[in-house]
Amino acid sequence: MLEASLELDHRLELDRIAQSILSSRQALAFTGAGISTESGIPDFRSPDGLWKRSAPTSFREFLNDPEIRARYWRRRRERYPELVDKLPNVGHQSLQQLIDAGTLDLVITQNIDGLHQKSGVDSGRIIELHGSSHQIRCLECRTLFPADSGEIDDQATIPDCPRCGGMLKEATISFGEPLIEEDLRRSLNLAEESDFVLVVGSSLTVNPASRVPLVAARTGATLAIINNEETPLDRYAEHIVQASAGASLSYLTRQVLAGVQDN
Ligand code: NAD
Repeated sequence: MLEASLELDHRLELDRIAQSILSSRQALAFTGAGISTESGIPDFRSPDGLWKRSAPTSFREFLNDPEIRARYWRRRRERYPELVDKLPNVGHQSLQQLIDAGTLDLVITQNIDGLHQKSGVDSGRIIELHGSSHQIRCLECRTLFPADSGEIDDQATIPDCPRCGGMLKEATISFGEPLIEEDLRRSLNLAEESDFVLVVGSSLTVNPASRVPLVAARTGATLAIINNEETPLDRYAEHIVQASAGASLSYLTRQVLAGVQDN
């Protein structure tokens, strides 16, 4: 059983996290690439992470260099079909169960893979701070196209917006590209309002996203971090579990749901 990999210390800490969730008024999850590695999607910074394979394209390079745009679209066409086939794992499913049981209010994710939606979480309860691979955005008229809408020319080396002819890009945030302001503002407001934040599978090194758990902790929320290595925000956390996201969330969810039944 997956949970058998958890040491006793981890279980005891997860029991305490379960109590914090049960006594919270508004609880948020903040997820990163580490929750999806168990679905077969590499993260950025682990030894076999994406950074070790190819350097990501910066926003400035994308805007300024047609050759880089052509490479960007070629890579997306190679990789996107693989991503579409990926399935949520027990970590995503556990968060979905916590939301279903009314013990978790919202997921703010840095992930672009759409697996929280695929696990059954209502999209109104998800903020995708770094956007989604499943959408294409026109950088001129800002129209969002679902990737499977059939509206984008699959044959063009660099496709143009079918509405205005403007420059298209996957609706994800590249390095150096500003976040969607409304998503960031909403996330920071929620961080201030919430009294519990659960971080799962994030190195918490990407700014400004990592301000979300930081602001929450600084405004009085209890911060819990489940990640298989240290993070720069560990010193603000009341609970730290250095273990696998899937096993930890599976155990945690069982404890929370048992607590809900008891009440
Ligand atoms: P990151 O790669 O910086 O950090 C991931 C963290 O998760 C690391 O600390 C790693 O040790 C840990 N981790 C990996 N597998 C784990 C597991 N099974 N259990 C527990 N911990 C595990 O990722 P980040 O903090 O999300 O920031 C990187 C950026 O990369 C984000 O902006 C995100 O948009 C993007 N990204 C997203 C995906 C995705 O959508 N799945 C994949 C790669 C990168």
